Amino acid sequence: RMRRRSSEHMKWNGTGSTAHFQEIVLERCYNYTQLVQPALRDRDCQKIREAFRNAFISKDPCSATEEDYHPLMKLVNQTVPCDKTVFWSKTKELAHQYTKVQREMFTLEDTLLGYIADDLSWCGDAGSHEMNYQSCPHWKKDCSNNFVSVFWGLLSKRFAENACGVVQVVLNGSISNAFDGKSTFGRVEVHNLNPMKVHMLQAWVIHDLGKFPSDSCSGSSINDLSWIIKQRNIKFTCQDNYSSVKFLQCVKKPEDSSCR
Ligand code: NAD
Repeated sequence: RMRRRSSEHMKWNGTGSTAHFQEIVLERCYNYTQLVQPALRDRDCQKIREAFRNAFISKDPCSATEEDYHPLMKLVNQTVPCDKTVFWSKTKELAHQYTKVQREMFTLEDTLLGYIADDLSWCGDAGSHEMNYQSCPHWKKDCSNNFVSVFWGLLSKRFAENACGVVQVVLNGSISNAFDGKSTFGRVEVHNLNPMKVHMLQAWVIHDLGKFPSDSCSGSSINDLSWIIKQRNIKFTCQDNYSSVKFLQCVKKPEDSSCR
């Protein structure tokens, strides 16, 4: 018994399922549908929790497919209004602060499924009806087709496909490549914008306060992004340190020289 438990512990290199995963999913679902976004008040949170669990439970955690999540996606079925979509890459906290202040703007984590799953970890095992709380596959060290990566890949793809009007992206100017073609934004979201619906992508490149700017709108990574977007018949603009986002950093650190 003891030996089996310890070998289970060593199975994967990623963090195990989040403790109280089921309860957190249910609680976040009710919070979102009843309080945050009452337009979704008729969604069935018990069914959503069950569909989420059924997507991965009793399955090989390295054999996830998008189809596994289709019943869950079908249950939720949420659309974001035009001009309100905000993507991000290496700027999660700042992008979330931005949409929190701009109330009616949406990052993926301001939609129900993104809200439910943000920062959680989950996996099961082919031979068990239980979740594995000891370890889950790491997306680089174990397998890329794990249930967490496939979930975010599919959700990001659908979020981009459904976007319309003018869309925005918050990028990090304090790393060497503000735009990274291998990130989810660069690999999935950029290529799934629908040129029939999306007129323009506005990029905001934001430098961390007190850090040396490493990239900007005139750098080569943004030039690559601009080229890809224009190639897809979507207009592109870029602005360094857009004030609506910059001010959020200054609220936290008003004494910084760049906030004067
Ligand atoms: P990023 O590099 O800052 O990554 C965001 C987070 O996702 C990080 O914690 C990263 O470790 C993780 N991540 C990235 N690719 C992954 C993968 N294949 N498997 C498991 N985890 C992975 O920024 P990004 O990659 O450009 O992703 C951000 C964009 O994609 C956003 O626009 C958002 O809509 C969506 N997204 C959100 C999440 C999330 O955790 N909330 C995760 C992936 C993608």
